Amino acid sequence: MSIFTMSILCVVAAANAQINESSSLPEVEFFRLSQRDPNPLGEKALAIHPEQWKHGETEHFIYHFLHSYVATPVSVEAEFHYRVVAKELERDQVAAATDVKSHIYIFESPEQWQQFQAFGKLEPWTGGIHSQGSLFIQRNPKYKFSGNLLGHEIVHLIVHRFYPDGIPCWLNEGLAQYISKAAYASYQRARGYISKPHSEAIATGDLIALPTLTAITFPPTDRVTTFYDESERLVRFLCSTDKPSFLALLDALGRHQPFETALARTYTGKFPDPSVLEQKFREYAARDFGTTLQQASD
Ligand SMILES: [Zn+2]
Repeated sequence: MSIFTMSILCVVAAANAQINESSSLPEVEFFRLSQRDPNPLGEKALAIHPEQWKHGETEHFIYHFLHSYVATPVSVEAEFHYRVVAKELERDQVAAATDVKSHIYIFESPEQWQQFQAFGKLEPWTGGIHSQGSLFIQRNPKYKFSGNLLGHEIVHLIVHRFYPDGIPCWLNEGLAQYISKAAYASYQRARGYISKPHSEAIATGDLIALPTLTAITFPPTDRVTTFYDESERLVRFLCSTDKPSFLALLDALGRHQPFETALARTYTGKFPDPSVLEQKFREYAARDFGTTLQQASD
């Protein structure tokens, strides 16, 4: 079990203790919301049948929704992930210093969602739209939102607050998968379900070469699954190799430094050049972690 995995589980346990799902999200009139969303996409969303939207807020998020029974579980999961991510990225201080909230728009009707999709770019993995720190999703009240998809999008929202100028695509997607999988499994277990985080192994022949992976700016349509799995594995590998180095690398990449130079500087002695990382990562990526993760999460 890596230190990172262990610490995720401790944080998740603490966050679980604070969950209170018994109360539903209180409705707040639009003009009484503590903050507005400067994102033009937010305005477009609320312009679709403006009379239908209801609003609410929690400590770090503002929600726009149709039914509070749909929005309430979203708000619980959002605050849950907020605590996990802030702690994991050691951003508790930064988080406390800013009171800007992220906006989450929850569509229900497939027709209205389709209408809205014309304005934004769908994330191929989750089907949500993430734009300038706001999240737009569709949740059909007839179906439960499956797996870690919502958590994945919420991790993006939180990472955006800490790095508003953006981080590389592989790192953003890798972190979103890595953290949301661990958090989701624990979140499920806290509710009495049997659940363990799962990390997909990638056959050596399928790997996207690291210079290509680290340069990609949007998930490639022809290799979506490999891209997400490999990005998750790379984040997992870098974290388990050395967590302080990983956080330093994240900061450097958040300041748009080239991957190669940032890597050599933050993982001094371990990965003096990217070919050393590539070689070690290839072995790590092909490993089947089923059993290890099961032990780690119990
Ligand atoms: Zn994503």
